[in-house]
Amino acid sequence: MKTDVVVIGAGPVGLSCAIEIQRSGLSCVTVDKGALVNSLTGYPTNMEFFSTPDLIEIGGHPLVSSRYKPIREEAIDYYRRVAERESLQLLLYEHVSGLEGAFGTYTIHTSKRSISCKAVVIATGFFDQPNMLDVPGENLPKVSHYFREAFTYTGRDICIIGAKNSAALAALQCHRRGARVTMVIRGPEVGPTVKYWIRPDLINRIEEGSIDVYYRSSVTSIHEDRLEIETPDGKLTINNDVVLALTGYHPDYSFLTSFGVAIADDGVDTPLFDAATHETSRKGVFIAGTVCGGRHTSRWFIENGRHHAALIASELADRLRANVPV
Ligand SMILES: Cc1cc2nc3c(=O)[nH]c(=O)nc-3n(C[C@H](O)[C@H](O)[C@H](O)COP(=O)(O)OP(=O)(O)OC[C@H]3O[C@@H](n4cnc5c(N)ncnc54)[C@H](O)[C@@H]3O)c2cc1C
Repeated sequence: MKTDVVVIGAGPVGLSCAIEIQRSGLSCVTVDKGALVNSLTGYPTNMEFFSTPDLIEIGGHPLVSSRYKPIREEAIDYYRRVAERESLQLLLYEHVSGLEGAFGTYTIHTSKRSISCKAVVIATGFFDQPNMLDVPGENLPKVSHYFREAFTYTGRDICIIGAKNSAALAALQCHRRGARVTMVIRGPEVGPTVKYWIRPDLINRIEEGSIDVYYRSSVTSIHEDRLEIETPDGKLTINNDVVLALTGYHPDYSFLTSFGVAIADDGVDTPLFDAATHETSRKGVFIAGTVCGGRHTSRWFIENGRHHAALIASELADRLRANVPV
């Protein structure tokens, strides 16, 4: 198979890149190891986006929602229809594993084939690499790094680890579906960046005693029926049926470095790229979307990451269509 550009990752930003690259007159193949917008398919079933529809649109296609803010299902179907309307060439359930060659003569290896291309865009996000707790018992089936829905936790003792939006929303929903919720938070408070309409709700539930919380605390071991927690007042054991470790995610650094992308020594391991073009330290390899922020995972999201597409497409069009020596 041969194309001008391969986009790795069919998330909202990868799709946005593919649209702009095709519109610039170049051919483009988008490869994803999972489903179309694979990360979104793994979000909480009934989640509502924080953004209004216009802010997560791509390619200028209107996202029509029945609500003020779209829900997961509407967004997934929107991106599916946009990909169809734009006749994007998609290879789904194909894991990209390697890159050989140089700008102009690259070969991408996937789990199913090799693709010759001139340039590559990495839009692989971070959602499939959870930050691990690294404590005994983390591999028990009762532990998950993803929250899907609260109904299954009714009547159960659930511990939610983390203090950001995902943890806050999961705690509120599980509490409202009849779970006994305990939060374990490393810092002194519910994260200050939790959305302004979620944070007071959670704090009120904590203050009224509906949700238990241990601040400045961490889980030190997980067992079938209990948890050990280190708190400022000493070690505690609490009853526990389920653990949701919502402690964030990080990009796949072995993947990035195997593609020749250099990583900054800046405390958050940001991939190095030119801010004007999004080209990385490897010529002809570009980077887009949330993966650009390294461990600072709230730096880029759909609202702002979708605009990387136009920068990359315009740079590629200038260099590939004008046959600038590669
Ligand atoms: C609960 C929740 C609510 C959110 N709400 C909002 C919101 O309201 N507004 C907003 O702007 N953002 C929101 N975000 C963030 C937003 O969803 C992400 O920023 C967005 O998905 C990033 O898009 P992306 O294309 O960069 O990465 P992703 O959507 O993560 O896409 C990356 C893709 O790359 C694929 N991939 C990874 N590695 C490989 C490989 N080796 N080979 C092939 N494919 C690979 C993955 O399968 C995935 O499909 C929310 C996030 C969460 C978790």
